[in-house]
Amino acid sequence: MNENAIYDVVIVGSGVAGLSAAVYAARADLEPLVLEGPEPGGQLTLTTEVENYLGFPEGVGGTELIQRGKEQAERFGAEFAHGTVEDATLETRPFELELSSGDALRARALIVATGASARWVGAENEDELMGYGLSTCATCDGAFHRGDDVLVIGGGDSAMEEALFLAKFADSVTIVHRRDDLRASDIMARRAREHETIEFRWNTELLEIHGSRDEGVTGATLVSHADGYPTEKLASGADVEYEEVDVGGIFYGVGHDPNTAFLEDTAVELADTRHLLTLEGMTTETAVAGVFGAGDVMDPDYRQAVTSAGTGSMAALDAEAWLKEQAVSDARSHAVGEIEADG
Ligand code: NAP
Repeated sequence: MNENAIYDVVIVGSGVAGLSAAVYAARADLEPLVLEGPEPGGQLTLTTEVENYLGFPEGVGGTELIQRGKEQAERFGAEFAHGTVEDATLETRPFELELSSGDALRARALIVATGASARWVGAENEDELMGYGLSTCATCDGAFHRGDDVLVIGGGDSAMEEALFLAKFADSVTIVHRRDDLRASDIMARRAREHETIEFRWNTELLEIHGSRDEGVTGATLVSHADGYPTEKLASGADVEYEEVDVGGIFYGVGHDPNTAFLEDTAVELADTRHLLTLEGMTTETAVAGVFGAGDVMDPDYRQAVTSAGTGSMAALDAEAWLKEQAVSDARSHAVGEIEADG
């Protein structure tokens, strides 16, 4: 990483979207710099087996897929650096990026592929116990819960995946879902429903986590209502049922929020969900010319490894085309300037 250089393309994020953008930008001889961010490799490094990425009929490990993608990008000349963007100045050309380390970088084009981070549910004591028996990543922390009873919060594919992984270690896994209908895909829901170690608690939410940093998680207070969304019901004054359970671990699988905080004060537009908004149509361009979005940071709907790879490649192609246009228009302005100076 060179603070004095002006990079043609800086890619912020090194998940599957950032890597795919890096392969394409590097093959186009743009010598991209990839800032790896706080979670190098992104969400795929926290998953076990990826079964639906095209070209791997037997499935492929998430970490292996990322490692191969990085090697592929490096082979074509992409540079990787540790770094997290704290602030972006996008009204200047080139763009200026300030990193949390205090370093600064300049880029003609910027690809935002910062992904999304695990959401928390807001239960009492979660700040205190996150990392001490409370986790957002079963593949990272599941093995610590051999022989425990554990809870998994959520009703989507992430929650099913966490539960299925935890069932290898835990004595019992209870999926706690706030409604009585799963959001998960049929195949994942069926696997969880058919697993003998996995149970479901419907119309139930986690209110409070018990334990301490010394002891870890020891239990939880759950709250239920027959019509679902019990914490909302509780807040509106309705009667709800409380239950105390003894558990040794709790895993959140309630989705992710896009990592766009560094764009808040820029002209890049964000949706109500804080996802980066791209322009209408099949493009990764944003409201700021020269800034492109790829992967989960701009995708509230599909959020698949393969779609992230797709939008990553699109962002690199869009950036390449934009840089070419800029070069032509800069050359034209320069020529006009010279003619005017001569005349
Ligand atoms: P998701 O589909 O948005 O599901 C989040 C789940 O958490 C929902 O069931 C939601 O309940 C619940 N939830 C959200 N906030 C909550 C809160 N504060 N308290 C309690 N429950 C809460 O997110 P995801 O499961 O992470 O999946 C995201 C995308 O990644 C999906 O497209 C999914 O298919 C994909 N994915 C695929 C796989 C796989 O195929 N192996 C694995 C993981 C993820 P409601 O249903 O009531 O909204």
